[in-house]
Amino acid sequence: MLRLDQDIKYLQGVGPHRADMLRKELDIKTVGDLLEFYPYRHIDRSHFYRISDINGNMPYVQLIGEILSFEGVGEGRKKRLIAHFSDGTGVIDLVWFQGTKYISQNYDCHKPYIVFGKPQLFKGRINVPHPELEASPLPPPKEGENHQRGENIKYSFVPSTPSLFAEAPATSVGTPPLSEGAGGRLFRPIYHTSETMKKRGLNSSMIAKLTATLLKMLDQPLAETLPDYLIQRYHLVSRDEAMRQIHYPTSADSLRRAQARLKFEELFYVQLNIIRYARDRARKYRGLVFPRVGTMFNDFFFHHLPFQLTGAQKRVIKEIRADMGSGRQMNRLLQGDVGSGKTLVALMCALIAIDNSYQTCIMAPTEILAEQHLETLQRMLKDMPLRVELLTGTVKGKRREKLLNDLLTGDIHILVGTHAVIEENVQFARLGLVIIDEQHRFGVAQRAKLWQKNVVPPHVLVMTATPIPRTLAMTLYGDLDVSVIDELPPGRKPIQTIHQYDRHRLSLNKGIRRQIDLGRQVYIVYPLIKESEKMDLKNLEDGYEQVKLDFPDCSISKVHGQMKPAEKDAEMQRFANGETQILVATTVIEVGVNVPNASVMVIENAERFGLSQLHQLRGRVGRGADQSFCILVTKYNLSEDTRRRIQIMVDTTDGFEIAEQDLQLRGPGDLEGTQQSGMAFDLKIANLAKDGILLQMARDAAQEIIDDENCEQNPLNQILWQRLYELRKTNINWGSIS
Ligand code: ADP
Ligand code: MG
Repeated sequence: MLRLDQDIKYLQGVGPHRADMLRKELDIKTVGDLLEFYPYRHIDRSHFYRISDINGNMPYVQLIGEILSFEGVGEGRKKRLIAHFSDGTGVIDLVWFQGTKYISQNYDCHKPYIVFGKPQLFKGRINVPHPELEASPLPPPKEGENHQRGENIKYSFVPSTPSLFAEAPATSVGTPPLSEGAGGRLFRPIYHTSETMKKRGLNSSMIAKLTATLLKMLDQPLAETLPDYLIQRYHLVSRDEAMRQIHYPTSADSLRRAQARLKFEELFYVQLNIIRYARDRARKYRGLVFPRVGTMFNDFFFHHLPFQLTGAQKRVIKEIRADMGSGRQMNRLLQGDVGSGKTLVALMCALIAIDNSYQTCIMAPTEILAEQHLETLQRMLKDMPLRVELLTGTVKGKRREKLLNDLLTGDIHILVGTHAVIEENVQFARLGLVIIDEQHRFGVAQRAKLWQKNVVPPHVLVMTATPIPRTLAMTLYGDLDVSVIDELPPGRKPIQTIHQYDRHRLSLNKGIRRQIDLGRQVYIVYPLIKESEKMDLKNLEDGYEQVKLDFPDCSISKVHGQMKPAEKDAEMQRFANGETQILVATTVIEVGVNVPNASVMVIENAERFGLSQLHQLRGRVGRGADQSFCILVTKYNLSEDTRRRIQIMVDTTDGFEIAEQDLQLRGPGDLEGTQQSGMAFDLKIANLAKDGILLQMARDAAQEIIDDENCEQNPLNQILWQRLYELRKTNINWGSIS
């Protein structure tokens, strides 16, 4: 009997070397890990494309044929190996830039091979770079022989509507043993592997062999991991069937069912974990009760409010007020697009805390932002008997000592700061509310640290200007309640976004000149090139020199990430005060900076930015009453993808729409904030961009279970708690949220 927790090295065909590689490259340590290493695609082995039918726009294709000859081409870095491959309908070039020696030594001319790869058009010819190449058990077709036109089976066969489940028949445990050899199987699983692995021969087909071996050795049905009532209700196939079919499906339909089952299960446990955690937290911490809305709040509201609150601001303040009066500890996410007026909401919530004799701490991700918050708050509160102070890394010595002391005596009502406020020696008299601005830069663990700063943990409000798609919010912040400011203050003219090629710089400069003559200010932003800080700077320096030439009579600021914080701040201040008219910068200005007189945002090399970053940058203008412009400057030749991104920016200023599109275009792994958070992005099969409906079903199922008072004792649920316990043990990120 094969045990799933058995070391992978004992699986037939693995051994210590491969085991090492599997562990290092794919984090596969046990037999069970391999079982859960799902193929990302299958190809229908019975279908091949004809070379004569191929064009450069096709996705992956499978060909069968023979290599006519090898040819080494080019010199130095352009050196490559070409195999001229024929299937009787035409000839296509297979190209390798690396590992050429291995290829020419291990593959022969005039032997039947199956080729799998993505065709591309290069200088008018179609070639297939770095294809998978495998000896074929079938002879290559002869001229005139019929090829069947193929269709790849991909993970896009996700059930998009719940009704798909209803078609599933009763589950049958255990699929008959798979037939021997690759030739007998209809669908070939394709697995992700790394370059290192491929070089050592541990490629997708090797892994396919291992999973085949593994499945053959599983002589007992795999234990179920979902309670029977969920399987029945959602018409899921058993875990045993799903696991076998996901690797070697017997039909497209059973593959779909296997995917549905495994995706549902994966999303369900993520949700069960979060929702259960939120419940436990609510039980464990009573939460401060702020019953009063008192003199400070009312005084400010009736006498000092500089403008009418928007409807959305009012609604959100009400939601927060209700939370803080409920006796539960508030854990709320406030989403509001750039410029929607979150600062004012934060301030008014702080006033409620103060009315109930508690202090508030506001955390910002950068010094500049913290200072700006301080100024805004001090300005708005200048006629009120309240003390707002700033604590950042640069506050030192006597000043710091005094500040820490005044915090402890309760003399300071609102503390604004950077992560410096988390430090252990920063202690409050009565901390009642923590507000975290632009939260995606703070980890969950840092959030939790703030809790220790009061006997009863303070209420927590997390604010973000990066709208988060719903599926992502549910997974990343699934334990938080959500409030949304979906309305901008009145009188804002929508920013006009224009796409311009960099070869049309003259007309661009004319536009900038016009705005400067009107007394407005201009941002010019250059991309940050992560791989090369030097190049990044050079880009900016060149740009700066050019701007100086183009606008010789203007005063120009320059800000980048490698300047000392103090210098950077000083320069930003000069721009904010209107001393300089043009600010040339890298993306350091991305977050939060508020200069209402700035009306033009020029983004150079806009093709290098992600959508949410472009949106953030654009949000720096349009803060005053004047018409503002965002100019996206790109090179002339753009990929299809980039063109779409730029077009989305031109078409809409709705941050939620943009976030949703970004998720669809890039997938969840690349979105801002997701990498730092770590959590839930180790999804093995579900896809947050595509599986929204499944996710909602999984969340509802989990919520319903947790809502039942007896859920922990119910014998039908024991399988759930057991599985959750196992998952928490193996998934570090899951553990870290509690
Ligand atoms: P963000 O949500 O991006 O943090 P801010 O709080 O910085 O936005 O607000 C952006 C600008 O809008 C500020 O200049 C602020 O004074 C102004 N503002 C906020 N609320 C209102 C309102 N209700 N009416 C008019 N202007 C407002
Ligand atoms: Mg803000």
